[in-house]
Amino acid sequence: MNPTIALECTLCGRVFVPDTERHVCPDHDGVGGILDVQYDQAGARDAVVDRLDDPIADLWDLAPLLPTDGNAIDLGAGGTPLLSAPTLSDQLGVTVHLKDERGNPTGSIKDRASAVLASRALASDQSVITCASTGNAAASLAGYAARTGLDCCIFVPADVPEGKAVQPLVYGADVYAVDGDYDDAFSLCRAVSEQRNWYDCSAAVNPYAVEGLRTVGHELARQTHETVPDWVVYPMGNGCGLAATWKGFDEFVNLGIVDDRPRMLGVQADGASAIHEQFSPDSDEATDPNATTQADSIDVRKPHNARKACRALDASDGATVAVSDDEILDAERTLGRTEGVYAEPASAATLAGLQRAVDQGLVAPGDHIVLVVTGTGLKDTASARTLVDGVEHVPHSPDAIPERE
Ligand SMILES: [Zn+2]
Repeated sequence: MNPTIALECTLCGRVFVPDTERHVCPDHDGVGGILDVQYDQAGARDAVVDRLDDPIADLWDLAPLLPTDGNAIDLGAGGTPLLSAPTLSDQLGVTVHLKDERGNPTGSIKDRASAVLASRALASDQSVITCASTGNAAASLAGYAARTGLDCCIFVPADVPEGKAVQPLVYGADVYAVDGDYDDAFSLCRAVSEQRNWYDCSAAVNPYAVEGLRTVGHELARQTHETVPDWVVYPMGNGCGLAATWKGFDEFVNLGIVDDRPRMLGVQADGASAIHEQFSPDSDEATDPNATTQADSIDVRKPHNARKACRALDASDGATVAVSDDEILDAERTLGRTEGVYAEPASAATLAGLQRAVDQGLVAPGDHIVLVVTGTGLKDTASARTLVDGVEHVPHSPDAIPERE
């Protein structure tokens, strides 16, 4: 049974009857009043408690907590591993685990959002689903559209990495690379959606995108309920993912299933650090307003969901840091070389952010840290290519291969 009871404005608290089409409160300009989905989960507690230590099959493992009526789309999202990171732990003097989202069906955590969005789109007979995305959400929504037979159009910034542009095309979506950045893609997507009555699944504005993403918080609560982490580190573009992770974990505490909550550490890139500047206005880290970042998944100048992120950061006694592209790319290489995890730059930003937090004394020696590795590095080999030496071309002769030292 769908446990949704209301949509609540994050600005004024006005409450609406849940429906699929309503995204924002009409009492504010533009998309200021993004809505938050409210639940009655009392009836779900027993189902959750009974399964707390069971292996997690996938996103639909705790379907009673999701805002859907049936249509559990089976593509394999969720149920991702929590990996230990012994080498990083030794290097940093803390205990690091990686919530590894690379194994989701289209290669990123966005599949958790798309599963719920596509399920709702099916249930409400939407004809066309669409989103604006820095890349991962677009590929993900296109994959779910293909799986469900929905028509899909997506809007990406002009500089989207090649891998993220090709992937949704393979899934059969129409892909529009919009002149400008993510904000331009977002505003065009929104305008077209309103004009053509398309279902806008953009994570920045669709409240149900956060609801699918919050399953990563549910899973973390299940996987760490005996030793709740001190910090969960999440990369922030629009801020939806961090907000969702907190919301999911917090629900398990409110249900009396887990005793403690982690603090949230939000990481942004210097070139796109609006949430960091809003949440940590006294930070002395210099930021250039004209900068950009190679971490395309968090390259968002005007995060529309900053309010949800800041509420989660506040509620968790959290913190934010901003890191440079050099730190992010160094961290991408370090993740690969220390733990065998090839993550995209935005995901590697969590490690760069943790390093910064350790240096600042924000994170204490011995703290238990979870880095959320939100997506694979395989979609953006161009940025990674700058990190490594090239292959060595050799003749077909054993003598050409040096001994290992
Ligand atoms: Zn409002």
